Amino acid sequence: MTNCPTVLSRGSCTVPNCAHEHNILVCEPCGFIADDANAYTGHLTSNRHKTRIAGRGITLYCPICEMNIESGTWASHKAGSNHLKQAIRKGASPDVDPEEGANDQGQKYCQLCKLAVENSKWVRHKRGTWHLKRKDFAAYQAALVDAERDKNGISTNGKLGFGIVDFTKTKKTVTRPIVLKATAANVRVRLTDSKLVSSRANMDTTLVSFILFFLANDTFILVLL
Ligand SMILES: [Zn+2]
Ligand SMILES: [Zn+2]
Ligand SMILES: [Zn+2]
Ligand SMILES: [Zn+2]
Repeated sequence: MTNCPTVLSRGSCTVPNCAHEHNILVCEPCGFIADDANAYTGHLTSNRHKTRIAGRGITLYCPICEMNIESGTWASHKAGSNHLKQAIRKGASPDVDPEEGANDQGQKYCQLCKLAVENSKWVRHKRGTWHLKRKDFAAYQAALVDAERDKNGISTNGKLGFGIVDFTKTKKTVTRPIVLKATAANVRVRLTDSKLVSSRANMDTTLVSFILFFLANDTFILVLL
């Protein structure tokens, strides 16, 4: 099964019976979307992945020496005589944390890859496999954030939480109105499911049930019985 293109581009998919894979496997440190489970396990054992999670192979910037440093050599750079000399010259402590890499003499810093690239290789870098993979990953992450914020054009309004309901003190029903609004035109909204937090916590919810009433103007009313 191939990854669902709608999930990748929009963060979620509502296509009925969509035949694509919706459980997208990603490696965040590498900025990698696996095509399938095999590619994912293959990636986890790759040298590229091991280098990344060991914190090597990215570009850091030394604020004392004002230059890019390969992350694998940061410890030895910081302990080196040049770095100490620069720190003394500036009257600063040599014990600094590295910063994110920067555009340096003759180098461009790629934020996606966290790597400084020679100016002469920049064009080729941007067309490179790993840069493009990270670009896809960044687009997918942005789509997830959008989908989370916007629910793809649907916003919910109203207090969804019932809090703790003490049935000895309340009447038998508790209600909460919810407004579902579509921010885009021509979107039809239907609330298809609702869950109690307590049902996630595996508590006995057999005594609890919902009724969902549909009112006019996209307003639903959730009644706890
Ligand atoms: Zn899908
Ligand atoms: Zn990885
Ligand atoms: Zn330094
Ligand atoms: Zn890049």
